[in-house]
Amino acid sequence: MLLNEIQDYDKKYYMNTFGNRIPVAFSKGQGIHLWSTDGEKYTDFFSGIAVNSIGHSHATFVDMVSKQVSNLIHCSNLYYIESQALLAKELVQSSCADKIFFANSGAEANEGAIKLARVFFKKLGFPDKYEIITLQNSFHGRTITTLSATGQEKYGKPFEPLTKGFKKVPINDFIALKAAITENTCAIMLEPVQGESGVYPCDLEYLKNVKKLCDEKNLLLIFDEVQTGIGRTGKLFGYQRYNIEPDIFTLAKALGGGIPIGAVCAKDHVAGAFAPGEHGSTFGGNPLACTAGLAVMKIMRDERLPENAAKLGEYIKFKLEALASSSYPVISEIRAAGLMIAIELNKPIASIVKTKMFEKKYLIANIGDNILRILPPLIITQTDADEFITTLKSAIDEVL
Ligand SMILES: *Cc1c(COP(=O)(O)O)cnc(C)c1O
Repeated sequence: MLLNEIQDYDKKYYMNTFGNRIPVAFSKGQGIHLWSTDGEKYTDFFSGIAVNSIGHSHATFVDMVSKQVSNLIHCSNLYYIESQALLAKELVQSSCADKIFFANSGAEANEGAIKLARVFFKKLGFPDKYEIITLQNSFHGRTITTLSATGQEKYGKPFEPLTKGFKKVPINDFIALKAAITENTCAIMLEPVQGESGVYPCDLEYLKNVKKLCDEKNLLLIFDEVQTGIGRTGKLFGYQRYNIEPDIFTLAKALGGGIPIGAVCAKDHVAGAFAPGEHGSTFGGNPLACTAGLAVMKIMRDERLPENAAKLGEYIKFKLEALASSSYPVISEIRAAGLMIAIELNKPIASIVKTKMFEKKYLIANIGDNILRILPPLIITQTDADEFITTLKSAIDEVL
């Protein structure tokens, strides 16, 4: 189909939740490249919002997933599922978690984590311990309850009343967090590095204090690793950057390489709170999604992608900071955790720069007027990074 036909159908038949999209439709991907329906080649430095971390059409992934598609896609959780058992084992053996539950998205995984925290205290005999403290400017998903957890009013406001039992405090403000705790508090839930609001990492000292406080006050620590998980920040899981183990963490985005899957990962003493029948999913953890997860985990390990993310993330940060400090004041700050990178501009040109980059066949994103955001596939090389930086500089130059 021609792009304008797709756009006509989209306008006529699709709910207008995404507004005017970037005017392109893709029909093929390979490695870090995408090809549009009109045959143009693009370089993907956004990975479908931190999803395509292994790049597009990775041979191992295509092979494992295609075989699974031909054999069995779905059978329901009424039966045992080999790839589900294997992926749960793989995640447990590579993390601090002891048990896994599979969902279909980040929001759904977070819902599972919230339910688990509540039921954990119910079963301990504390039915009034249900309140969860989250952070301002956080993002936890689009369901009513995850919107209630999300610390950005604009997302939840139109859908009030939201779920009760969530309190927001500023990031890296331990005093405010401590003050927010009451006898109703059951958990603290946060992203180790806030993604959607512009790459804001939690400080190490802060998280150490949060962990200590959770231990003292008998609160659960929940990390939303939907974006930071699976190699993105330079470690397989974001909590490993801090050496702080949460009681529960959630995964989604990169875990399925583009096949929808989410995961609730928990320590044994917490995981046991779910009794049979108290949580579930029709699609969650089906043979196809878990095979995709197994393929992604294999590629992460075989190609040492978390290490590559750490190395290239440092490299891009170093290069951009060098550029900024020499003669380029328009770049005012670089925030990076592995290949989760925000480039802060001191002029409100982020959206125009993004469009310029698109004209130069690079896919990046912006947050508001001043922040450029990149989430390249974790397979990029130093040459890819250099080409990106050169292109970015010329895009900014053209806008200035
Ligand atoms: C993307 C994201 C979510 C929501 O995931 P969906 O799959 O869109 O439901 C939740 N938390 C964080 C930190 C995210 O980045």
